[in-house]
Amino acid sequence: MDPLQTPIEYLKGVGPSRANLLKQELSIYTFQDLLHFFPHRYIDRSTFFKIKNLPKNSSEVQIKGELIKLEMKRQKKGKRLVGTFTDGERNMELVWFRGHKWIKESLKLNINYVIFGRLNWYANQPSIPHPEMETLENFDKGFSKSLQAVYPSTEKLLNKGISQRVIIKMLQELLISLKKPFPETLPEDLRTKYKLIDKNTALKNIHFPDNQDILTAAQNRLKYEELFFIQLQLLIKNLQRKQKIKGFFFEKIGDKFNTFFNKNLPFELTDAQKKVIREIRKDIGNGQQMNRLLQGDVGSGKTIVALMVMLIAADNGFQSCLMAPTEILAKQHFQSIKSLIGDLDITIGLLTGGSKKAERIQLADQLESGDLNILIGTHAVIEDKVQFKNLGFAVVDEQHRFGVAQRAKLWRKNTTPPHVLVMTATPIPRTLAMSVYGDLDISVIDELPPGRKKIKTLHRFDSNRLKVFKFIADQIQRGQQIYIVYPLIKESEKMDYKDLMDGYESIVRAFPSPRYQISILHGKMPTKDKDYEMERFINKQTQIMVATTVIEVGVNVPNASVMVIESAERFGLSQLHQLRGRVGRGNDQSYCILMSSHKLSTEAKTRLETMTATTDGFDIAEVDLRLRGPGDLMGTQQSGVLQLKIADIIKDNQWLKIARSDAQALLLDDPKLEAQKNTPLRQTLAKMKAYQNIWNYIS
Ligand code: ADP
Ligand code: MG
Repeated sequence: MDPLQTPIEYLKGVGPSRANLLKQELSIYTFQDLLHFFPHRYIDRSTFFKIKNLPKNSSEVQIKGELIKLEMKRQKKGKRLVGTFTDGERNMELVWFRGHKWIKESLKLNINYVIFGRLNWYANQPSIPHPEMETLENFDKGFSKSLQAVYPSTEKLLNKGISQRVIIKMLQELLISLKKPFPETLPEDLRTKYKLIDKNTALKNIHFPDNQDILTAAQNRLKYEELFFIQLQLLIKNLQRKQKIKGFFFEKIGDKFNTFFNKNLPFELTDAQKKVIREIRKDIGNGQQMNRLLQGDVGSGKTIVALMVMLIAADNGFQSCLMAPTEILAKQHFQSIKSLIGDLDITIGLLTGGSKKAERIQLADQLESGDLNILIGTHAVIEDKVQFKNLGFAVVDEQHRFGVAQRAKLWRKNTTPPHVLVMTATPIPRTLAMSVYGDLDISVIDELPPGRKKIKTLHRFDSNRLKVFKFIADQIQRGQQIYIVYPLIKESEKMDYKDLMDGYESIVRAFPSPRYQISILHGKMPTKDKDYEMERFINKQTQIMVATTVIEVGVNVPNASVMVIESAERFGLSQLHQLRGRVGRGNDQSYCILMSSHKLSTEAKTRLETMTATTDGFDIAEVDLRLRGPGDLMGTQQSGVLQLKIADIIKDNQWLKIARSDAQALLLDDPKLEAQKNTPLRQTLAKMKAYQNIWNYIS
């Protein structure tokens, strides 16, 4: 066996219980995992401070000295362990709030230590909470005394005594025990091209750097390698899919499409819509299976594009389905598609969690006989019991709400997988899309239909609520409708913001019936109540819709022109953008009013400022990515792909681009990686396949 695949419990000094913790907390299962558990920063351990010279701020410092006293002190809540530390001239305090038992057992009085930690000043007295402590003897024996790696950790690990010191010790042990050098994973020509150092030197120096220069070289080498292999795998997957998986051939554009195009289409398509339809037609007419991501800002008109492709499918004798993340949205798609197709010879059905048994039975019949052309619905559509006669085209709306597993399930709905179009209104910066959806082709609708007025976005503090209400009343007077959105539905004890019901009541007071009618909508309502309220709003029987974020996705009521977002500081940028997208759908000037308290974190301020400054979804996505990091942005389901060990998709953007184009060029040249020089790649990929499972998550 590859020695790197040795389970971590076999490392000297680890054992079963520590191994369990390492697995649970850090996902370290094998020697290889530990070796690739990279530090998140480095500290300078070459300088020592004297206590009398400590800087009067909260910087990190290193001091030599002895622990002369250790005592437990009671405080309001619980106890703290306080140590007195001396450097021979002065004393200072060391404090522990947790893990007392382990600390008392492991620390010794009156021997020389090197301590390291962040300073805390209180009443002009310095102290260090939870310092790293190492005996001077061990410190002197250590691998590296200039730059020391700091590893990500968790509270649980610290409490159980797996300190930085212990992790470093394990790595020392590992590097000593691995006698055979780590095999090189990159071909010579790529290493020469970027002057990348070899794998062994990189691994040793990432953990125990001799100096800053070699550390930088090690980081570059490992970042490039990480990004390169991700891109290589994605591209290979894409190539294989295109070669192996045959797709349906939609050869003709028939009556249904043509009639729709000539008679039913209520407006001229934008150039961007036309471009995307051309791209899709190329995919579905070349015998390969389409797997395409359609990105387009809210309101850019993605639905009509999907519908037109469904008509092509029908022209070629195939069924289509459209899957939406919520019931409301599925119904709305159903309604708007129904009205778009008018008297065209197309049958469409709606299937959601709320569909009645009789409806389901009828739908099942129609689906299996092929009488139904288009099925629209929620997740219910991909349930195993839903059987199509010949599903040829599947659309997934608002992809970010769907897991990749569900996308895979769609694939299995027919012996030949249907063409898949994934639509998202949460624009993903291109570089990110490249790495996350490297297995999809990407189309972008980058223009809005003409005539839309730019939505005016304002930020108002809660103290200005009366003015905002006055504005709402004026807009209603002019025949407009209003959304008022709250962050959640359940009262949360900790948070002091208004909850939906409070809000609803105050709005009912401010806008009394019979003059005003108000709808309310939240996720916990029974389906029929939701429908009823939505219906009333659509039919203009109510002027105000008070809701939670259930309306975030896709709801389309063109007459609604004001979106008030309560506690806007609590929402993420993509949510705010989605919510704002609910207005500005008609011909009237629309407004988005972000309400917040005066207490705003820096991040919240940035979010609100971004919203008032721009309506461009791609710009917003860039800011969001910077604020939150990629994992969060994509939702947990996709984040596996983005759990990069060393590269940073934002900061190392340049490396990402280079790695991708290198991988592309390499595959063009040697698609099966058969060349002698590419042996390391072939071997590394084979190992990754055997030992890694994250790639199973993507498609
Ligand atoms: P989204 O991309 O957010 O899903 P929709 O498909 O719901 O957007 O379209 C938003 C609105 O714009 C719909 O009312 C739709 O009928 C309309 N629309 C779409 N394309 C055009 C166009 N080319 N010209 C005018 N209106 C359009
Ligand atoms: Mg939509």
